Amino acid sequence: MVKRVWEILEKEAFEKADLVELLGLEGEDAQELFDKALEVKTKYVGRKVWFRGLIEYSNYCTKDCFYCGIRKGNQRYQRYELSEEEVIEAALFAYRNRFGSIVIQSGERNNPRFVDTIEYLLKEISRLTNRELHVTLSLGEQSEETYLRWKEAGAHRYLLRIEVSNPELYKKIHPSDDLHAWEKRIDGLKLLRKTGYMVGTGVMIGLPFQTLSDLADDLLFFRDFDVDMIGMGPYIEHEDTPLFQYRDQLLPLTERLELSLKMVAIIRIMMKDINIAATTAMQTIDPRGRERALLAGANVMMPNLTPPKYKENYLLYKDKPGIADDAVQTLQSMEANIRAAGDEIGYGEWGDPRHFKKA
Ligand code: SAH
Ligand code: SF4
Repeated sequence: MVKRVWEILEKEAFEKADLVELLGLEGEDAQELFDKALEVKTKYVGRKVWFRGLIEYSNYCTKDCFYCGIRKGNQRYQRYELSEEEVIEAALFAYRNRFGSIVIQSGERNNPRFVDTIEYLLKEISRLTNRELHVTLSLGEQSEETYLRWKEAGAHRYLLRIEVSNPELYKKIHPSDDLHAWEKRIDGLKLLRKTGYMVGTGVMIGLPFQTLSDLADDLLFFRDFDVDMIGMGPYIEHEDTPLFQYRDQLLPLTERLELSLKMVAIIRIMMKDINIAATTAMQTIDPRGRERALLAGANVMMPNLTPPKYKENYLLYKDKPGIADDAVQTLQSMEANIRAAGDEIGYGEWGDPRHFKKA
């Protein structure tokens, strides 16, 4: 068996059957995959980890994705929106701490006031940080005009997860209406590319009905779309969502984490110089989750800078870690993860994916 793993890992390009085989590896064979990914990471992007300060701007959402805790239909959470001052303060915390960039994330909204406010915030952040702090947006699907306006106001990167690359599976985890169409999500990614953003996408791993063949197709999708950044992690069920009814069919959480780490490792080997996030959902399952992701090829972490009083209302999934921590505590725990992995923090640099510069 060991020989077979090496044979696959030595290939110039993986075929789908190779990917399915790699995703099924266990024990020492899986470790061989992780070691190879770390070797590729060290060679092509180095051992610096880039911080992206995460600002969870608002949990208002017009959508009803079947997996997400802050979906419109969930009455449990108090809905909030950070004030302009709170967003700017969090951005300045990132700037003062010499992070290369921040991520502004929220539920999806398209109304003019929302679009205007984000535009205003982008301009303010750019002005107050002498254009030195880069901004990534993760605000769902928007019109081409909106993407352009935000780009011109100072946004550099955009994260829009495809969630699953299989359209049939996409239908099973979303309501069937125009607001939740797989094709629109793809169009969104294309528009982002067209408007000049560095484009990030990703998927959830371990969803009900999802197979290893689906995950292999997700990896091929990332490669074919030639993305600059990947943020993916385990699906974690939330009791207030429709998908919770399938909880008995899910892989155990630890296996979902292993599968996520294998996805990270394989995409690092396939796409060498992109940025890959060690996501919070991995840390939810294992206190060493983020550290293990760094050792499997990830090179980005997203310290949560949302003011603590809002954090308990931005629970996309259950047991999200660190919701009582303030930004300083969050930073300390991440620094410990990074040191434990033998990496260093890339302070004072944007940490653009080399992949984008090359394009
Ligand atoms: N509304 C925006 C951004 C916020 S949601 C959007 O949907 O793009 C950010 C990500 O959280 C989603 O893309 C999804 O992949 C992830 N997410 C939602 N519910 C989740 C769950 N139960 N487990 C793991 N990830 C989840
Ligand atoms: Fe809204 Fe994003 Fe959650 Fe879907 S995944 S319900 S768009 S916040």
